[in-house]
Amino acid sequence: MSRKPIIVGNWKMNKNNAETDEFFKSVEGHLHDAADFGVAVPFTDLATAVAGAKDLIVAAENVHFEASGAFTGEISVGMLQELDVKWVILGHSERRQYFNETDETVNKKTLAAFAGGLTPIVCVGETLEEFEAGKTEEVVRRQVAGALEGLYVEDAKKLVIAYEPVWAIGTGKSATKEIAQNTCALVRDEVRLIFSKEVSDVVRIQYGGSVKPDNIKEYMDEADIDGALIGGASLKVDSFLEIVEAVK
Ligand code: PGA
Repeated sequence: MSRKPIIVGNWKMNKNNAETDEFFKSVEGHLHDAADFGVAVPFTDLATAVAGAKDLIVAAENVHFEASGAFTGEISVGMLQELDVKWVILGHSERRQYFNETDETVNKKTLAAFAGGLTPIVCVGETLEEFEAGKTEEVVRRQVAGALEGLYVEDAKKLVIAYEPVWAIGTGKSATKEIAQNTCALVRDEVRLIFSKEVSDVVRIQYGGSVKPDNIKEYMDEADIDGALIGGASLKVDSFLEIVEAVK
């Protein structure tokens, strides 16, 4: 089964418009066809990113599930569409941890994103406590099933799921390639149970958590890992381009 790898940087709450512009100018023209590449940027940087993007995918880092209304501080799918943004990260563990994101809200956002023509990157992953208690499989299956409830098959096929063990994010303590592969395989298996093998064969699954230029290849060589979601190492042009080179 050949799935085109997808590698996306997640800038989180970093970079202003000038820095975004500079990043795009430095990175565009240095990509290649062996993978899809993108960056998820803060809302305020989206217009600049879209203006500077040629081959890079531009993603938002969150979106609200309602179309409009009294939701101070939130952004709708329609607002992203207006900026020509086509991708969005949903359910990142930092949003689950600090902003009360739940399987239910991730599901509503996933449905809203697809309804509005956006492709979501849905994040799942267990905490250190859950990992140590041997609950990874239970937690990850629950998160995947929760996020995908009610999705149309044709939308499910376009989905990207990022498996990011919370204990590996920003800690420098990346998961071993065996752990990453095993959990990505069970994410795929859960997609098969919910939909079918036809769907699970095409869904792209990323690993995320302390991915760097010097370890990305070993993850990407694993059968069920189709790319990476990268925080810290996506911020600097040099390390982003080293990642681009590493997966050539
Ligand atoms: P990290 O972050 O690469 O800095 O560990 C990954 C993420 O949060 O997506």
